[in-house]
Amino acid sequence: MADAPTPKPWIDAIHAYVPGKSTGADGRPLIKLSANENPLGCSPAALAARAVEPQRYPDPDSTALRAAIAQVHGLNPARVVMGTGSDELLNLAAQGYAGVGDEVLFSRFSFSVYDIAARRCGATPVVAPDADFGADVDALLALVSERTRVVFIANPNNPTGSFLPRGEIARLHAALPADVLLVVDQAYAEYLAPEDDDGALALAEAHGNVLVTRTFSKIYGLAGERIGWATGAPGLIATLNRIRGPFNVSNTGQAMAEAAVADQAFVTHARDHNRAERTRFVAALEALGNHGLRPLPSEANFVLILFGGALTAETAYNGLAERGYIVRWLPGQGLPQALRITIGTARQMGDIAAALREMAEAAK
Ligand code: PMP
Repeated sequence: MADAPTPKPWIDAIHAYVPGKSTGADGRPLIKLSANENPLGCSPAALAARAVEPQRYPDPDSTALRAAIAQVHGLNPARVVMGTGSDELLNLAAQGYAGVGDEVLFSRFSFSVYDIAARRCGATPVVAPDADFGADVDALLALVSERTRVVFIANPNNPTGSFLPRGEIARLHAALPADVLLVVDQAYAEYLAPEDDDGALALAEAHGNVLVTRTFSKIYGLAGERIGWATGAPGLIATLNRIRGPFNVSNTGQAMAEAAVADQAFVTHARDHNRAERTRFVAALEALGNHGLRPLPSEANFVLILFGGALTAETAYNGLAERGYIVRWLPGQGLPQALRITIGTARQMGDIAAALREMAEAAK
């Protein structure tokens, strides 16, 4: 028999994305605070919009959904493209603009899909050093070469929660050559107060080389439906439309997202809940500073905690699992000293803070 087909060497080099687990070692279901999902679920209007004809293909252009998104954000619907989650759009952006011999640049401790997106199309990922776990514009700019084709920045960033203000995004964009695509991944942007907008949507409207991606997976609470969108100049949108799946958002997904985006009261409620619980959780963690715990400042729906004392991140991860909570431990992303915990309900966050205190005191 002939040998099995050989994958391309750049595909062979990819480390598959490892999602957070949702069961314990014994198979028990755990309360999942490992994937930055919305603890409040989704808008009731979105749930009610579910029933549509499953035997029919969806609208290939997601026309009504794009119009609803454009209206809420003051965009031209012709400049909006939908994806099967924003993951698809991040991958398409790399595929559309980078290939073998090219470089794709991003910061250390940013979203792990950027590395996969670069390698999938044969490009070389280039990783810039961070500044105290956040993106560093000067470090990114220092690594721009004539081979750089795409720069990814998550703002707010996953997994650290850090945020680059408007001036830093503008400075990064202004210093990039016009033929380099800047992708601003705003998966967590709705968690920011509106006045803290990083200005990327305006840059995408004004310039030919800025793509902004958003998702319905986070504040809209529709992660299971796989719906993301991107906006940018007509040329960028045309490229993504040429290479995306023709029916890449399902009937149900389109209907639910359209209802969800029309319910901005739910978004405001989820943002307020997140801010209040995150503030309370961070204050409880800061009180454990003498045990070596350090929560990083977060603008998103999770907090990254660094463990520098007798209680290690691994022990805390296992201890929380014993108490029924699955959170994200990140040794595979160069952060063996850190746990990323999604902001859940008030009761869940109170439980977790109390458990961390108990474990930190026992570890002394
Ligand atoms: N970007 C960032 C920064 C994320 O954290 C995530 C989800 N983990 C995504 C994009 C992708 O989300 P989705 O594909 O569900 O839209």
